[in-house]
Amino acid sequence: KGPDPDLVAIAERMATVKHKILVLSGKGGVGKSTFSAQLSFALAGMDYQVGLLDIDICGPSIPKMLGLEGQDIHQSNLGWSPIYVESNLGVMSIGFMLPNPDEAVIWRGPRKNGLIKQFLKDVHWGELDYLVVDAPPGTSDEHISIVQFLQVTGIDGAIIVTTPQQVSLIDVRKEISFCKKVGLPVLGVVENMSGLMQPISDIGFVKLNEHGEEEDTTEWTLNYIKTHAPELLTLFVRSELFDSSGGGAAQMCMDMGVPFLGKIPMEPQLCKAAEEGRSCFADKKCTASAPALRRIIDKL
Ligand code: ADP
Repeated sequence: KGPDPDLVAIAERMATVKHKILVLSGKGGVGKSTFSAQLSFALAGMDYQVGLLDIDICGPSIPKMLGLEGQDIHQSNLGWSPIYVESNLGVMSIGFMLPNPDEAVIWRGPRKNGLIKQFLKDVHWGELDYLVVDAPPGTSDEHISIVQFLQVTGIDGAIIVTTPQQVSLIDVRKEISFCKKVGLPVLGVVENMSGLMQPISDIGFVKLNEHGEEEDTTEWTLNYIKTHAPELLTLFVRSELFDSSGGGAAQMCMDMGVPFLGKIPMEPQLCKAAEEGRSCFADKKCTASAPALRRIIDKL
């Protein structure tokens, strides 16, 4: 029996891709797609040729996070063409193929695996410095497929995104154990939503009355600060949203012997940039999150 023709085709496509990075998370909603999108923007901003592949078949959020909603994929004799945000940042997602973004994708494993295989075989990326793959949360069929297919040509490893609290970290441990089992190097763990950071001038102030109802006092409070201590307006409020008394992701990384890449605070402006499909690195209001992301990316 000769070599599997699909794997041969994947190896040929991937021969022009220098680095392949898989972005994983144990749970949904921890910021994995946000990280994948901003990592891709950052690498493209460093003049690398970048491809972003979204294999989160049931919840593709990459088109929106790159400002590409409603785009259609085109085919040429070279294969499926990625959709380009910039000349050096191409994106491919199942989101581009769904007739209606509100439609649920109810596919069983084999069909998902088939599509992942097709993405790897048929997308014409051309020469790439980096292929960033945004995976669904957890460790399911899609993960086994993508690792198996990419291992044919070598894969740099996985970055795992988590939030600081135990319920999220428990799943990250499973994710790390999955990586070890399938021989996928863990490039490191990123702790996202690590505290909330907001300039005082952007926050709202409320008083809770005896019924626990909110009474807005923002205008009064900000005026008071402006009059009595205007220098306070340059401060940020920093608050821990999640319990990180167990030492958060940094401690877990020490326990599990994998690199800790750093923390990204929760910053409303980063959420806004992601919602609007923009790079946070071009947004002066991503005061805390953009430099934090930059420090993480510099470690890779
Ligand atoms: P996942 O891919 O893990 O399901 P998402 O990347 O879709 O998670 O993030 C979930 C939501 O949280 C999105 O609206 C995203 O913009 C927001 N978000 C993620 N990380 C941050 C952050 N550090 N600060 C503010 N909002 C964030």
